[in-house]
Amino acid sequence: MNAISRLKRTPPPFAGPLLLPPLLPFRPHSSTPACSSIVTDSSSLVDEFTKYCYQRDLPRAMQAMDSMQKHKIWADSITYSELIKCCLARRAISQGRLVHKHVFSNGYEPKTFLINIFLNMYVKFNLLDEAQALFDQMPERNVVSWTTMIAAYSNAKLNDKALEFLILMLRDGVSPNMFTYSSVLRACDGLPNLRQLHCSIFKIGLDSDVFVRSALIDIYSKWDELQEALRVFNEMVTADLVVWNSIIGGFAQNSDGHGALNLFKSMKRAGFWANQATLTSVLRACTGLALLELGKQVHVHVLKFNQDLILNNALLNMYCKCGSLEDSNSTFARMVEKDVISWSTMIIGLAQNGFSLEALKLFDSMKLSGIKPNNITILGVMFACSHAGLVEDGQYYFQSMKKHFGIDPEREHYGCMVDLLGRAGKLDEAIKLIHEMECEPDVVTWRTLLGACKVHRNTDIAIYAAQKILNLEPQDTGTYILLSNIYANSQRWEEVAEVRRTMRDRGVRKEPGCSWIEVNKQIHAFILGDTSHPQIGEIGRELSQLIWRLKEVGYVPDTNFVLQDLEGEQKEDSLQYHSEKLAIVFGMMSLPREKTIRIRKNIRICGDCHVFAKLLAKMESRNIVIRDPIRYHHFHHGVCSCGDYW
Ligand code: ZN
Ligand code: ZN
Repeated sequence: MNAISRLKRTPPPFAGPLLLPPLLPFRPHSSTPACSSIVTDSSSLVDEFTKYCYQRDLPRAMQAMDSMQKHKIWADSITYSELIKCCLARRAISQGRLVHKHVFSNGYEPKTFLINIFLNMYVKFNLLDEAQALFDQMPERNVVSWTTMIAAYSNAKLNDKALEFLILMLRDGVSPNMFTYSSVLRACDGLPNLRQLHCSIFKIGLDSDVFVRSALIDIYSKWDELQEALRVFNEMVTADLVVWNSIIGGFAQNSDGHGALNLFKSMKRAGFWANQATLTSVLRACTGLALLELGKQVHVHVLKFNQDLILNNALLNMYCKCGSLEDSNSTFARMVEKDVISWSTMIIGLAQNGFSLEALKLFDSMKLSGIKPNNITILGVMFACSHAGLVEDGQYYFQSMKKHFGIDPEREHYGCMVDLLGRAGKLDEAIKLIHEMECEPDVVTWRTLLGACKVHRNTDIAIYAAQKILNLEPQDTGTYILLSNIYANSQRWEEVAEVRRTMRDRGVRKEPGCSWIEVNKQIHAFILGDTSHPQIGEIGRELSQLIWRLKEVGYVPDTNFVLQDLEGEQKEDSLQYHSEKLAIVFGMMSLPREKTIRIRKNIRICGDCHVFAKLLAKMESRNIVIRDPIRYHHFHHGVCSCGDYW
């Protein structure tokens, strides 16, 4: 009689519930012929053991098992599996090993079902060698045994091993199931591998399984094969929420925000209700694209999952990244549960958007709340110090982060210090710090130094930093142009020619400036020199008028390109067509005055556009926010939150 039929057995008549333990003890296996006295003795021993196992009383169960061992009797597989559950819950490794030993003692042959339980136990205890040894001894292996091992190797990132096991499994004549494939797919470390697997899944007919599908979509997305992912998705007759989440998440991971959002819309049209995972992905997509209006729509859906921490954090991040501090403040205030991510997101959000003192105040509240800061929090705090010009405070946090919070400074913290020193004009100290870094300075660190050189007009260090950047990023057009501008300004024509030659040799082309603005849930892109926008004529006329009026209040186009990454030939005329100017004017034409004009840019804003935006914000009483790849500029009342430093 197996365990299942025992469970299904109806109780004998007259055996009331009070007289029987919750589960009838199974008649013990015995290696010796059963005489009546031993049977009674054995069954009471097994009864006791069973009782302790179900009560999860590990010490007593182990004792009872010891007595059973002496009498060479065994309980049933289900009872042992209960005991192993108990060992796993308590991380009782040595007890787990004793149970394993007992079950195999004296020539007793446990069923495959039970051996699989031990296999799983070793895997969960992260004892892969022991799991493998047990697996090797198994007289018979079923799909569960194989899948347990494949999943274990796949989780341990031993991808070759996982794939090897799949092949051995197929050779052994055991058919993989959906769980096998979803594990093995995650172990694929190359596309040819993946395509081959996809074929074999297709042959076995598992390709319509929801789990396998979503694993396939995840993995194709991971390898940047979004079209293939989409094809797998589209082939499905019925998509369920798991699969929708996989495909939307895939697009959001790959920073294809538009793709993710379009899929989200189709999902809603298909009548699916988004869950937390969907909304988190969609929010990530909105964050990437800085789509505030769409993010706000998602917020409405998020309200259904009131007080879900992960979702609230995603919402907070979206509002911060879209530069809408009002919304992020109110989201933060409403959150009942806050973790280190929530606090750090808010601190960084405030700091990046120019509210340094508020960020530092929030850091104090965080410490009072008892939540321990992590490396990201400290980064936000240093960022705030650097933006508020609090050189000493910043230095204090940098030097004491290890002592007070047990966090080693990483490259980003050094970068922040370089920024801090650079802003304060302490360029030599900044260089000294870079040379002292324990990790290799990366391109961001050098760019930070270069930014400081631009502000403090230090051409020598600028050349040094620019050369370092070009060593790390030989395709960085802006830096070549900046370097050649510096050389040209000091009449070093040979070096100018050299830079131009290098650019030509390396096939470097200038990335055109591009600005995006969202109006009526539509994204409008403006590119320097591109006239395809349907209202471009109107925008140009409006822009000329505005510039004319601005000149009356003192605007002088800034054509000093020496420390800027603009081509020297670009004089006043072409300045006028910088993409952010077009986007700002379009925003003014299309949005009511009380709406903030929010623009995203692919390259840094130039000095002239910065002055233009400041003066325009004042003259027209508008709020303008521009997010470039490095920071945010909030233009309001004639000043910018960056303090003219970027
Ligand atoms: Zn510009
Ligand atoms: Zn600014």
